[in-house]
Amino acid sequence: MSRPSSPARPSRLNTGFPMKQTVLLIAPSLGFESIFPLGLSTIASALMADGKVCIGLDERARPGCLETALAGVDPDSRPMAAVIEASPRNVNQALDAAARCAAADIPAIFVGPAAATDARAMMDSSCAFAAVTGDPETVLLRLLDELANPVGAEIPGARFRIAGGVLTDSPPVFDMDPAGLVYDRTVFPVSDYCDHPRHPEFRQAAIETSRGCTLDCTFCPVPCRYERKWRGRPIAAIVQEMSGLHRDYGITDFVIEDDQPLADIERFQTLMKAIRTALPGISMAFSNGLRPEMLNISTLQLMAAAGTRDISLGIESGSSKVRASLNRPISTDQVQGIITEAHRLKMVVTGYFMLGLPGETVPQMLETIMMANRFRFDYVHFMVYHPWHVTTGPASLAFNHVRTAAYLGSYCNPMRLAGLARSGHISPGRARADASRLIEWIMAGRTGGGTW
Ligand code: SF4
Repeated sequence: MSRPSSPARPSRLNTGFPMKQTVLLIAPSLGFESIFPLGLSTIASALMADGKVCIGLDERARPGCLETALAGVDPDSRPMAAVIEASPRNVNQALDAAARCAAADIPAIFVGPAAATDARAMMDSSCAFAAVTGDPETVLLRLLDELANPVGAEIPGARFRIAGGVLTDSPPVFDMDPAGLVYDRTVFPVSDYCDHPRHPEFRQAAIETSRGCTLDCTFCPVPCRYERKWRGRPIAAIVQEMSGLHRDYGITDFVIEDDQPLADIERFQTLMKAIRTALPGISMAFSNGLRPEMLNISTLQLMAAAGTRDISLGIESGSSKVRASLNRPISTDQVQGIITEAHRLKMVVTGYFMLGLPGETVPQMLETIMMANRFRFDYVHFMVYHPWHVTTGPASLAFNHVRTAAYLGSYCNPMRLAGLARSGHISPGRARADASRLIEWIMAGRTGGGTW
C-alpha cells in the first residue's frame, strides 16, 4: 500500500495567530515513552471546536520544544493558557513545565491522572492556575472562560485560583459523552508517532476504545480518576476512526491504549468482529496490561481474527500473596494457559510486573523476577512502584534498598542472575539457562525500553 503524505502540519509559535486565543498543549518528558498523547488530542479537538488555536509541545517526541516555544513568545501577545498533562510518573516534569509557563506569564492548567486524583498536591506545590478533576474536554472550556472573564464561581471538576489567591474546588463531573470524542491528529502530527522501534514495516497509531475502569487494583489511579466509571465509545465511531487513519495516513497497525478494554466483554467481542470485517489485514497491539482472568479462549480467538499480534498481561507480582493484596487474585495456571493459547494464535506476549509495592518483601520481589524469567513470555517489563496519594501507601522499605537494582533489572542484567544463584534463590543450572535466554533475547534485538 502506498503511504500518503501527512497533511500540512500546524505552525509553532509566532505565526501570527491571535495569541490570546491560543492554548499550548504540553506533554512533559516521561522516560523512554513517546506514545501519541490521546488525552491531549481530544482536548485539542474540543478547544478548536470552540475557536481556540492549539499548539502541541511534546517533550517526549521533541525534547526541548517547550523551551524553544517559550523563548519565542511575544510578551505583548501571549498564549492564553498552557494545558499540561501530568501522570504520577512525571509529576516533577509537569511541575517544572508549569513553573516555566508561569515565568513566561502563561497560566498553567494541569490535566491527566495526577491532576484528577490529587488536585491539591498538584496545585499546592505549584503556581499553576488550575487542576482538572473531571472531563477535561468540557471543564477546560469553563476554565478558559474564567481566565478571560474572572467570576470566581465554582467550576465543577476543577480546582483553581481566584482573586486574592484563594483556591476553590468542587467535585468532579463526568458529563462528556464518549460518542462525541474526536481525536485530533494534526496538533500532534501522526508522523511524529507512527514509527515502531522494532518493526520498520509498521505504520502505527494509538487509539482508545473506552475510558475508565470499574475494577479496583489497589495500586491503580484509574478508578479514582473516573470515580470507577467505565465509558465505551460507540463501535461504529471506533471503526470509522480506524478506517480514517488507515485511509488518510496509511496506518496499518493500531495500539489500543484503553485503561480497561475488556470491561464489557460482549461489546469487546462485537468490536473485534467489526474490526475484522471493516479492516482486514490490519494488526493490533494491546499494550496496557490486560487482566489475564478477563480473557478466555474465545475472546483471544476473536482478537487474533481481528489482527491482534501482540498482547500485554498485567501480572504485577510473582507472589500470590502480593497479587491477592493488589486485588489481582489470578493463579499461575491461568497465566500459563493464556500465554499458551496466545502463542498458539501467533501473538507475542509481554508480562508486566511491578517492584517495590507497599509491604512487599525482598523475597517476594525475587519471586516476581523469577516468574518473569521462567514463564514463556516473549518480553517482560518491570515498573518500579510509584507512591501516589491514591494508592495504598508508600513503597515498601525494601524498595529503597533495591531501587537501583530494580531499574537495572529493567534491562538485561545477567549479573543479577549470578547474584540470585549465589544467594541460593535459583540453582546454578537454572541461572545458566536463564542467562542463555537473556543473551538469546539480546541477540534477537529484543532489549530496550525497560523490557528484557
Ligand atoms: S484493571 Fe487496569 S485500569 Fe482497572 S483498576 Fe486494575 S490496573 Fe487499573
